[in-house]
Amino acid sequence: MTENLNLWFDPEKCLIAGKWISCASGDSLPLMNPSNGERIGAIARGRASDIDAAVAAAHEARKGDWGRTTAAERGRFLFRLGKLVEDRIEDLARIEALDVGKPLKQARNDAVALVRYLEFYGGAADKLHGETIPYLEGYTVYTLREPFGVTGHIVPWNYPMQIIGRSVGAALAVGNACVLKPAEDACLTALAFADLAREAGLPEGALNVVPGLGSEAGAALTAHPNVQHISFTGSVATGVQVQMAAARNVVPVTLELGGKSPQIFFEDGDLEAALPFLVNAGIQNAGQTCSASSRILVQRSRLAEVAERMAEKYRALKVGPALADLDVGPLISAKQQGIVSSFLDRGADLEKVAEGRFLDAPGEGNYVKPTLFAGVDPSHVLARDEIFGPVQVIIPFDTEDEATAIANGTDYGLVASIWTRDGARQMRMAKKIRTGQVFINNYGAGGGVELPFGGMGKSGHGREKGFEALYGFTSLKTVAAYHG
Ligand code: NDP
Repeated sequence: MTENLNLWFDPEKCLIAGKWISCASGDSLPLMNPSNGERIGAIARGRASDIDAAVAAAHEARKGDWGRTTAAERGRFLFRLGKLVEDRIEDLARIEALDVGKPLKQARNDAVALVRYLEFYGGAADKLHGETIPYLEGYTVYTLREPFGVTGHIVPWNYPMQIIGRSVGAALAVGNACVLKPAEDACLTALAFADLAREAGLPEGALNVVPGLGSEAGAALTAHPNVQHISFTGSVATGVQVQMAAARNVVPVTLELGGKSPQIFFEDGDLEAALPFLVNAGIQNAGQTCSASSRILVQRSRLAEVAERMAEKYRALKVGPALADLDVGPLISAKQQGIVSSFLDRGADLEKVAEGRFLDAPGEGNYVKPTLFAGVDPSHVLARDEIFGPVQVIIPFDTEDEATAIANGTDYGLVASIWTRDGARQMRMAKKIRTGQVFINNYGAGGGVELPFGGMGKSGHGREKGFEALYGFTSLKTVAAYHG
């Protein structure tokens, strides 16, 4: 049955200069429901000329009302927007479930997180300031934190609401004007967000949204000579293209490119406490999470016990349509289903310990069974490459040094967790692990918007979330006044 989206905005339009308009070509792209493969609507197919118009509108906003706002006014705007989002949490969750295939409770969490980002950056807007610097006799020196101007935001399909919150929320808080290119497979909550921003009173042009293909609208935005900062979340391959395009204009980029994040379980670890994290961090959002924990490193004396307890959980996992609100929904697209299935094929030589089960998962949907492998060598492709599906590998280790080497042995470095009761080991490991976030006896810390987030190695560079994002979306100016 085709589900009704019940949208209060027209999904086939772009938001440019505060107005919903058709893209220049009038072309559209189909919207598919990942849970059953049915077409549920269409979105605009914006191209370079629409990006040109959006960037021009953003510059006008900076010269006009938006550029004149005080930090306190921007904070109040973000609070108003946060309240409007909060009033629509159920609508947004349902739209996301249908568009992206996320089980409802997970989609609801994303909407709640979006509210938190808006509250956090609303509260922070008027608390960001420069410094005075003691200097030579006769000088007064201080720094100013200024917005870049126009910021471009390329958002992927896995967590649209959260990523819009952390990037657009922070960029607006410090006074940038934004051009947002959502992923073609996940545009609807971006458009809903933009409509709510209008309702909250955002001056026209301060936020512009141009849906379309990454290779068209996305590439045009990242190469645009009048964009002063690019924020990108997605694959390493596209991240490299984005950085190269931005480099031609000498424009800074923030890249968040995923990972192969380990949880390291030592022999003195508390398995009852760890178990939900060990599994959930791998299967949440069907494993399509940049910070998914796809590697579970277990000290050999606890290996059999951890594998069996995780297997019990896997066997209980139910997979089905997003609106059925089970443990795991479909993958975003047939393409992603193909990528994950091919990884599963390449794991045919591994010991498959357990898998989840389908529950009313239509054959036309993009489903794969969550799968747990054990006894995996760190050199195996499933232990090295980002899979972006509900697949985890258990890797044995003997010593702390070996665990460290395996944990640091991939190209990535986004997140890691350490499960041990030994305080000295906790501190040692936290220093030795090469990732942007380390969790001790937890994983993800509830995803707090306050916690700076970003990668090392091929997981990217730059930091989002927390106050760090505000520094990242500003340019620092030093003023040295000589007064004798
Ligand atoms: P991409 O990196 O290609 O897509 C991410 C975003 O970039 C989307 O908004 C996409 O738009 C846009 N984009 C694509 N090409 C360009 C370009 N040339 N210039 C500017 N923007 C562009 O990832 P995929 O969606 O193809 O997913 C492939 C793999 O990437 C996944 O299997 C996963 O491993 C990884 N990934 C990681 C994410 C993370 O959170 N770190 C998020 C998503 C994917 P559009 O979708 O419209 O083409």
